[in-house]
Parts: sequence; C-alpha cells; structure tokens
Amino acid sequence: MRARECGGTVPVDERYVDWCDACDWNVDSARTEPPPGRITAVRRALARRYGEQLADEMGRRDGLAPPKRDAPTVAAFALALLVHGVTAAVAVAGVLLVVLGWSTVVQPLLGVVLLAVAVVVFPRPARLPGNTPVLYRADAPRLFGLIDEVGGRVGTAGVHAVLVTAEFNASVTVYGFRRRRVLTLGLPLWRVLSPQERVALLGHELGHFAHGDIRYGAVTGEALRTLSVWHYTLAPGPVNGPVDLFVNGMTFLPRRAVQGLLLLLDHLSLRASQRAEYLADADAARAGSTEAAVGLMDRLLLVGTVHSELRRVAAAASMRGGRGGHEARQEAERGLWDGLAGHVGAVPEREVERLRRAGARRGHSVDSTHPPTHLRRRCLLAGGPSPAGIVYGDALSAATAAELAPAEAELARRVVRDRVR
Ligand SMILES: [Zn+2]
Repeated sequence: MRARECGGTVPVDERYVDWCDACDWNVDSARTEPPPGRITAVRRALARRYGEQLADEMGRRDGLAPPKRDAPTVAAFALALLVHGVTAAVAVAGVLLVVLGWSTVVQPLLGVVLLAVAVVVFPRPARLPGNTPVLYRADAPRLFGLIDEVGGRVGTAGVHAVLVTAEFNASVTVYGFRRRRVLTLGLPLWRVLSPQERVALLGHELGHFAHGDIRYGAVTGEALRTLSVWHYTLAPGPVNGPVDLFVNGMTFLPRRAVQGLLLLLDHLSLRASQRAEYLADADAARAGSTEAAVGLMDRLLLVGTVHSELRRVAAAASMRGGRGGHEARQEAERGLWDGLAGHVGAVPEREVERLRRAGARRGHSVDSTHPPTHLRRRCLLAGGPSPAGIVYGDALSAATAAELAPAEAELARRVVRDRVR
C-alpha cells in the first residue's frame, strides 16, 4: 500500500499498473496504441459524438426507437448509387473507346485501362476467405443449434457458416451471390467469455441481422468498398523523379474527392450503424442476460492483455531450439486457449476497473464504427436488468467445445508458430 496526497491509497501489485481509484492518478499510463490514420481518426471522433447523443436518447426514453429511414440514411443510399453510377460510366466509357476508336491506337488502350479499373472496383459479392477454418452445420450441429436459438430469441434466423479466427472480436456479414449469412468468431474472445457472455455475444451479432444495419446493406456497403479501393489505388507513391511528381499531382484532386466521399458516406451511415450497435447490445442482454452483456463489455476492454499473453506464450515456445523446441511448441499449442482463459480470468477486478476508466477517458471502442465501450456499458445498465433468455448449460458448453476443437488446434498452431516468425 502506498498513500497518495489525494487521500487515496494505492495497493502495489507488480503484475499490474499502479493507479489511484480516488483521483485516477496513472489510470491511463500504458497508452501504447499507434496514432490512427486520418480517416480512422475522423471516424472515431464521429463515433464518439454519435455514441454520446444516442446514449442520451436512450437514457431519456425507454430504449432506442427502431431504425427508420431517416434523411441521412436515404442520402447515404443515394450517394452509394452515385458511386456505382460512376463505376458503370467508367465501364461504358471503356467499351465505347475500344469499339468506336478501334482505328486509332490510343483510344482502345485507354479503353482497356478503364475497363480494368471498372473490373477492380465493380461491386461483387464477398467470398469466404480460403485460409480460415470454417464450420458448416454438419460440422458443429450443437453450436449451430445454439446460434439458431439465439437468433429466434432476437427475431432472426441463424447463419450458414461460422468462420473461426485468431482475432479478438466477432462479426457478421453476408457472402456469395445468395447473400448467405456468416458469423466470424474470434477464438481469443470466445474462449475468455463465460458461457452466458458467449450467448450475449451471439445475441449482439445476430441482432445486427435482426435490425438490418445499412452497412450490411448491399448498396451502401459495396459503395464503401469501391471507394476504399479507389482510395488505396490513388494513394500517392514515393517520389523518385519528375514522373512520380507528375503522377502524384494528377491524382491529387481525384484522391481528395474520393477521400471526401468516403468521409461523407461514413458520416451519413455512422449514426444508423451506431444505433444498430446499441440495439444489438439490447439483444445481447435479451439473449444472455444484462449481467452477461455487461460482462462482455468488460472482457472487450482486455484486448491488450489477451494480445500480450498470446505473444508471450508464442515467444516463450520459440526460445527453445532443436528437438526440445518442437516439443515446447506442441505443448504451448495444446495449452494455449485454456491458458489464455485462465490468464484473463485471473485479472483482478481492480485492473478491470482501471481499464474501464482508462477506456472512458480515451473513448475505447472495439473498432471505428462501434460506440465507445463505456457508453455501451452504461446504456445496458440503464436498460434495467434482463434475465437470460437462453441458458448455455455445461452439457451444451462441452458439446460445442468439442465441435470447435479441430479449429482451435489449427489456430493454436498458427498463433504459436506464425506469430513468432
Ligand atoms: Zn456490433
């Protein structure tokens, strides 16, 4: 214990940051995130502003109104159509240049370039990544059964596929021409949650389908993707001579235009998507209980702890070379996920409280489109306690764990071997 001038006392635990809960001294000392890029920074600032507005709205009435087609949503849709119109115009111009300018040399060449550009930015259905473990219903009937049940609770159907990744998050999207639903489940997150918190996580994710976040809408989502490709393509290259300078100069205006459109589309759709996040949190509570949904928020704050523990295990396993090294790696892989769950489970409440306060100061959010975590937590608590709609018992827990075991083994191998190299 160490006394502070504010009158508080600081218990000393060498494993965690010392901080004072009376005056918040040193509460956010370990700020190590790199500064975000320009677009991410603007998006975050907006996310925070809308997050606060919507949180107030939520506190005033009981709950948020369901999403409606308000002016910004319609404007976003119109802007998205405009973006797709430009893509179509580029394609048509390419065809015309090739066909009508056939006798010249320059025009068909330019036409081919335009056609190539149109092909790259043309809207297309997403595909499942080829290198990530994917589960279908036949591979994991109990897990899919649980997802169906949670879907029923929040008013939507289940998913067609579950992608298992080594990221500390979860998300939903659609893929293919038939727009099939896919849930991405990050094992590091899944494994540090209690069973009820997992139900809350599923409730949140499926809630996104139930409310129809426009980001998942084909038109607006694809326009964002098209603009991102343009943005990437038009990024200035390194300057090694007058030609580079000329190219960078020529792309300056289109680059700025794309950047502006990207920010505008974001601005228009962000409020609706933030509303969807709060509504999805209410679904999390409905499915898993308010307590579990709040527990999920607290777990999300532990992202740094999770990443450093995974890095530590991988680094420790790589220290040993030769034959012993191979065995050390295998052992690290076998114990990786249970070890992570144990490590995170042992983080004391005082450290979680520090992260909560640091997150509130910094405006921690899961990513640039989610509202700040502390506001989501506050809104959940304001909604009043909701009991668990779906109970994820021990037998079902064991069954789903067995179904996930092959994917877990594969991802443990990747975390231990690839993270070190
Ligand atoms: Zn979400």
